[in-house]
Amino acid sequence: MTVYGAAPAPVRPQYRGYQLLYQATSALRRGSFAATLTPTTLNCACCDRRWAEVEVPFTAVEYHYGKCGEAEYVCLTCYTPRIPSQDILGLERMNVTGKTLTPIYGKLGMLVGSGGIITPEAELYLTLPPKLFEKYRDGEWGQQGRLSIEKPFVRLISLLIQGALDPIEDGFVYIENWGRKVDGLMRQLMSTTSLHELWCNSENGASVLDLHAIITTAQVMSDQGLASQAGRFAFWKPILDAAKGQRDDKAFAQWLDNVPDPAALLQAIPTDPYDRLKLPAVLGWVMPYLDKLLPYCHTKTQSSSATFLPAQPSTQPPVVSKPSNEGAHVEPEQGKLF
Ligand SMILES: [Zn+2]
Repeated sequence: MTVYGAAPAPVRPQYRGYQLLYQATSALRRGSFAATLTPTTLNCACCDRRWAEVEVPFTAVEYHYGKCGEAEYVCLTCYTPRIPSQDILGLERMNVTGKTLTPIYGKLGMLVGSGGIITPEAELYLTLPPKLFEKYRDGEWGQQGRLSIEKPFVRLISLLIQGALDPIEDGFVYIENWGRKVDGLMRQLMSTTSLHELWCNSENGASVLDLHAIITTAQVMSDQGLASQAGRFAFWKPILDAAKGQRDDKAFAQWLDNVPDPAALLQAIPTDPYDRLKLPAVLGWVMPYLDKLLPYCHTKTQSSSATFLPAQPSTQPPVVSKPSNEGAHVEPEQGKLF
């Protein structure tokens, strides 16, 4: 039995993600030589939680950014992605300085282009690009079968249909990209307790995806004989253009002609324009597993021959949190279905 997490303190629900990450990574801290201390600050410099509320209360690690960075005090959970590990992951590369070779070992906070899922039982699974997978496959986690080369979302779907994320209400963590900015990832690490709000954590922060609506959309498409179109960018283009505020009436009219029951489909797709922009990619991954995913969506979809959609009323949920670097994208248009 590991000592870490053996007697977890009562946790605020919004801190469940941190608790799961802490529990899932005890092996990393076991091999770490970092000295802990009692902090004199009020909060963790990374996640900003008070010292009484972190997984190991009133215990911090002093951390410096680079050689000249000022000392910061971070909680053990926020420190964990910064721990290099030869045993758990493996050799990342050799650093060459003059004639000196220094081994650099893998750490969670340096897994660029890699994802992760932590189940309600605090089991961690990592998805890695093939090159990283090769580097780390012989490490402890590799030997335990925790590494794979699937896309993070595909791994998430496969764990979901295996029942590994049940009960969802207990919370699981989905990390879209560990990246290399630990601060960005750990500032707001969100757990998911409902498929209506799948929290996608990354180095750019946490954003939310309505996976329930995506699965419902897949069902409606399947019912209408459109399953093969689900992952096709060309099929969704008029919807994607509208979500970006670039409405094309002619293309949309043609789209309506091609869909047997467009009202039902338009009612099923997520209301959030950011979610709509992900439709082709995410639906393409969901559709092959639709039968196994449907039990997670108990509510029946309305098959609608009903009124054609008027200008969409303001039923749009507020955008809870979006990555901070959205500036590069065209801003989706809020408040309109099309
Ligand atoms: Zn922290």
